[in-house]
Amino acid sequence: MATGNQYQMQDPRTQYPTPEFEEQPQPAPGLDSKMKPEPDHGEATYEGAGRLKGRKALVTGGDSGIGRATVIAYAREGASLVINYLPEEASDAQAVIDLVKAEGGEIVGIPGDLKDESFCQSLVQKAHQALGGLDIVVNVAGKQTARKTIAEIDTEQFDATLKTNLYALFWICKAALPLLPAGAAIINTASIQSYQPSATLLDYATTKAGIVGFTKALAKQAIEQGVRVNAVAPGPVWTVLQPSGGQPQEKIPHFGEQTPYKRPGQPAECAPLYVFLASQESSYITGEIFGVTGGNPLP
Ligand code: NAD
Ligand code: MG
Repeated sequence: MATGNQYQMQDPRTQYPTPEFEEQPQPAPGLDSKMKPEPDHGEATYEGAGRLKGRKALVTGGDSGIGRATVIAYAREGASLVINYLPEEASDAQAVIDLVKAEGGEIVGIPGDLKDESFCQSLVQKAHQALGGLDIVVNVAGKQTARKTIAEIDTEQFDATLKTNLYALFWICKAALPLLPAGAAIINTASIQSYQPSATLLDYATTKAGIVGFTKALAKQAIEQGVRVNAVAPGPVWTVLQPSGGQPQEKIPHFGEQTPYKRPGQPAECAPLYVFLASQESSYITGEIFGVTGGNPLP
C-alpha cells in the first residue's frame, strides 16, 4: 500500500506514487485489493480528533477507493457506520469492516444494487435502524465506463450509469431526508467531469454535471430543516474505478499525469474533505462543490 503521511510537511507532488503504472484490467466493479500499487485509504496514517463523535453515517461505495478512505476517517473521528457495496465486492467490504472493528469502531455492511429503487429505500431504512438514527449520508457509489463514441454507448449502459449515479442519489436522498435531524449532512460525489467532460465519458460526465445541479437545488430545500448538502468533485484518483473500465486500459500507465501535480490523487487525500463537510465545522457551508483535483481548476 502506498502511504504518504498527511501530517508531515512535504512536496505534495511526490507525496504519493507517480506514473508510470502497469496496465491492470479487471471486470467492473473491480477489487481494490488487486490494484498495483494498492491505493492509500489512510489506513496507516489517518488520525481522528473526535470531529464526528456519536454521529451515524451511511456511506455508499464504502468498500473501496474514496468511499473506503471516508469510512476509515469517519470511524476514527467517532462515527458509527453502515456501508453499501455490490455483492461481488464482498472481500473489499470485509477488509474495511475488519479494520474498523479491530479499532473498536461500529460498522455494518449492507450489500445490494443501488440501481433498484426499493433497495435504495430499504438501505436507508435499515441504516437508520442499525445505527439508531441517521445524520450523515454520503453518496460515493458511481459507475464509469469509457467509450470512444456515442455510437458505442448502448441504452443498457446509458441506463445503468444514470441509475447508479443519479437515480440512486435521488432515491437515497428522498428516503433519508424525512429521517435526518437538524445538523445532519448529505455529501455527494461529483467530479471534475461535471465541468470538463472527457469525450470518452459522455454518459458519466452527464450524470456528474447532474449531481452538481441536484446538490445545489437540494441544499436550498434541505436547509429549511437545518440539513446541509454539499459535494466533493475529485480529479483523477487512484482507484479501481479506472482500470475496471473507467478509462481505456492504455491510459492507465499515465493516469493523473495531465494534472499540474503530474500524478493521480489518492483516496486518503479526499477523505478529510468528506470529514469536514460532515462535521459541524462546516456549519455555514451548503450547496457547494469542492474540488480535489491536483490543480485543474473547477468549474
Ligand atoms: P470505486 O470503484 O472504489 O468506488 C465506486 C463504488 O461504487 C464501488 O466500490 C461500488 O461499491 C459502487 N457501485 C457501483 N455500482 C453500484 C451499484 N449498482 N450498486 C451499489 N454500489 C455500486 O472508485 P472510486 O473512484 O472511489 O469512486 C467513488 C466515487 O468517486 C464515484 O462516484 C466516482 O464517480 C467518483 N470519482 C472518482 C474519480 C476517480 O478518478 N477515481 C474522479 C472523480 C469522481
Ligand atoms: Mg468497490
